[in-house]
Amino acid sequence: MRVAGLVTSFLMSMMVALPGYAWGPDGHEIVTGKAIGLLPEPLHSLFEQHREDLIRFSNVPDTVWRREFPERGDWHYINMDAFGYHDPGKDFPRQEPAARLLYDQKKRRGGRLPWAVKDYYDELVQRFRERDWPGAIRNAGYLSHFAAESTQPLHVTKNYKGQETGNVIYELDYGDPNVVDRDIHIRFESGLVRRHRDELEKRMQPSRAGRISDPVEGAFRMLSNSLDHVQQLLQADKEVTEALGIDEDYESFVGKREAYCSALHEKLGDLLVERLELGAGFLADLWVSAWEEAKK
Ligand SMILES: [Zn+2]
Repeated sequence: MRVAGLVTSFLMSMMVALPGYAWGPDGHEIVTGKAIGLLPEPLHSLFEQHREDLIRFSNVPDTVWRREFPERGDWHYINMDAFGYHDPGKDFPRQEPAARLLYDQKKRRGGRLPWAVKDYYDELVQRFRERDWPGAIRNAGYLSHFAAESTQPLHVTKNYKGQETGNVIYELDYGDPNVVDRDIHIRFESGLVRRHRDELEKRMQPSRAGRISDPVEGAFRMLSNSLDHVQQLLQADKEVTEALGIDEDYESFVGKREAYCSALHEKLGDLLVERLELGAGFLADLWVSAWEEAKK
């Protein structure tokens, strides 16, 4: 079981990162691994024993579902700023039916990320209660995916690749080996993470905030915090491309890729560490809370 998990995980880590859907595979691996390190016993031993499987399942919503369940595409984001709320973190509907109604009324895509967090949290509680350990590991991995998405700023905004702010975007499709160059969304969450993975993991010092009594509310805390960083991220990309004279001509990017990546890392490295730390802490809080709830 563990060997199979290891092989699959290795194969998946070789795949091209999946843009627009998630932290790349590296991001989800990092968050899952760091969250395991924050667990108390006996959960720590159980999850440590299944580390490779947890990591594998944490990427399944991008690698497998993307192909098999394209209708789940809107589980990976929520457009907090698309509906005219003065304070979306406070005012956005917490109940999914109310949010659906809002999306229909405004005729806008909204996303269901916080409710995907809740779905897998509830499922994990149930699997723990039934002492269904393989099911618990599978759902804990799925939960990891959506917990981590909540801390990626570009997963909470309608301007998710800077298309409304004039950030440079190239027409590269998913099959293209250079797709991580495409836009700031994927340049940040996949390109930058992969390039600096070792350093990021060394620098990260995640911590738990505490027990989560309401996973939707917990998710909204992360989401509104993410929203506060959207501007900083888009601005950094813009400053770097402008300073280097990178424009809509893709050749101009290719020739300056190294300089772009270094400069972006300079500006956003700390933010990246902070977002991944927050994701790991949130995930560990969810796992522990589900465990405690199952014991009731
Ligand atoms: Zn995703």
